[in-house]
Amino acid sequence: GPRVGVLALQGDFREHARVLAGLGADVSLIRRPEELETVDGLVIPGGESTVMDKLARAYGLAEPLKAAIAAGLPVYGTCAGLIMLADTVLDAIEGQQSFGGLDVVVRRNAFGSQNQSFETDLDVPALGEAPVHAVFIRGPVVESVGDSATALATLDDGRVVAVEQGNLLGTSFHPEIDGETRFHEYFLDKVRVRAAR
Ligand code: GLN
Repeated sequence: GPRVGVLALQGDFREHARVLAGLGADVSLIRRPEELETVDGLVIPGGESTVMDKLARAYGLAEPLKAAIAAGLPVYGTCAGLIMLADTVLDAIEGQQSFGGLDVVVRRNAFGSQNQSFETDLDVPALGEAPVHAVFIRGPVVESVGDSATALATLDDGRVVAVEQGNLLGTSFHPEIDGETRFHEYFLDKVRVRAAR
């Protein structure tokens, strides 16, 4: 199957690895820069973006990963992973950095204390007719989508919670924890195209 890495610095990387392996991918956990070169796609899991950022820089992964993103590596980020892919992060902590690549502005922890965690059904036309059951856990929202990016899903109130830009894909929620596999399949299609170059 396609060679896919899961960034395993912190967060729910095991859940992603399980889903990807179930879809036939050849999965490896990525912690070091040289491991990045062995994969044709990367998933950045949910977790805590402030910690992921610090660890990525401490392990020397941030710069190589930015270069790989710029060179077209397919990357799918969920929740904290979406924050790491966003060009601009609001409500970041002092000094927090993202890898960037997605021409979007995201706001961390955007749902307020009453709604920090919730589940809902979303229409995602790119994935077909059946709604996507989406689990949000202290997730970000996409406050604005730049010209280079496309919204894939919005909440009933119009807030954007899934985006795509070329080989980059991001969701505010966590398909990896509730049996929803279509985002991962959609991502693996990009990885296969990339691997066949
Ligand atoms: N609130 C976390 C952050 O800002 C994201 C939460 C998650 O990934 N479930 O990184």
